[in-house]
Amino acid sequence: MDSEIEVSSKEIDNLYKKLDKEAEASGYHLNPCIEDTKDLVKGILVNEKRYGYWSCPCRMAEGKKERDLDIICPCDYRDPDLTEYGMCFCGLYVSDEVVNADKKVTPIQERRPPEEERGDKRYQSDLGDLFHNLKYPIWRCKVCGYLCAREQPPETCPICKAKRERFELLNL
Ligand code: SF4
Repeated sequence: MDSEIEVSSKEIDNLYKKLDKEAEASGYHLNPCIEDTKDLVKGILVNEKRYGYWSCPCRMAEGKKERDLDIICPCDYRDPDLTEYGMCFCGLYVSDEVVNADKKVTPIQERRPPEEERGDKRYQSDLGDLFHNLKYPIWRCKVCGYLCAREQPPETCPICKAKRERFELLNL
């Protein structure tokens, strides 16, 4: 956290409520430990003021949006971490099983590839044979995997609410 960047409790409460509402509407859950969760929300707001986007509150950002796209919250790694560990890397989001106390969280391995391995290639699909005759290009939400066929990606993912910039064009 950056002590020079001020974030008011009202800003934290407002974003906490917004994220909680969106999460529940989309089948996700914020961590029920409200104090810890609000700390993470504060980290997101600090990063928004510092970088101009919601960089992950528990990862080091480069400060260049195009280089940090995969760790803009919710990051590309949230869903696989929820499936495998029951919570995202920071613990902002938790799975149904964790909320219902059917599963205990375990230490999470960082899923983000090292810098030299990052790049669009890791998202390329091998579904070419299946899709190559479609009239419209296929867009994939890199956060939740939602697919759509249209000229341009949607403004916001209808599933996880990630913004348009988080969509990739599948290279088929
Ligand atoms: S969803 Fe990803 S970016 Fe958001 S808090 Fe969790 S680990 Fe960080």
